[in-house]
Amino acid sequence: MTPKAIAGFWGKAIPNPETGCLEWAYELRRNYPCYYVPWDLVDGKNRHTRAHRLAYGLAYGPFDPDLHVLHSCDNPKCISPNHLFLGDNTANIQDSVSKGRRWTKLSDDDVRAIRASGESQRALGRHYGVDPSTIRKIKQRKRRVYVPD
Ligand SMILES: [Zn+2]
Repeated sequence: MTPKAIAGFWGKAIPNPETGCLEWAYELRRNYPCYYVPWDLVDGKNRHTRAHRLAYGLAYGPFDPDLHVLHSCDNPKCISPNHLFLGDNTANIQDSVSKGRRWTKLSDDDVRAIRASGESQRALGRHYGVDPSTIRKIKQRKRRVYVPD
């Protein structure tokens, strides 16, 4: 990225004086957690990258692309490097579980398959890596109710 592009990137985030977050306000997809920017730090090509990942890379340098960039502030819009930390997939899942939104890992197709499945909640939970209570709520249509059949 050129210095101009980097300045443009940071310029698309709005500081939140209450939380200290730097909130990405440019391009959102499905509200959470996909915020994309058309530059890639690693190879310089235009491509969609999550804004908070790019922010982390700009602040701290290149990092293992297999690692997740997680939020200490629990604000998915935030790209403040002070609120970002690296974690592996396990840390990401634990982080999501602790924040009660592990369910975002399930795709719409997963939700439909869970609704249609005759397997036990425990077996489905193990298969999809979510808590059986999440499976139950999906089957009872208390979770992911907006997913069409
Ligand atoms: Zn933040």
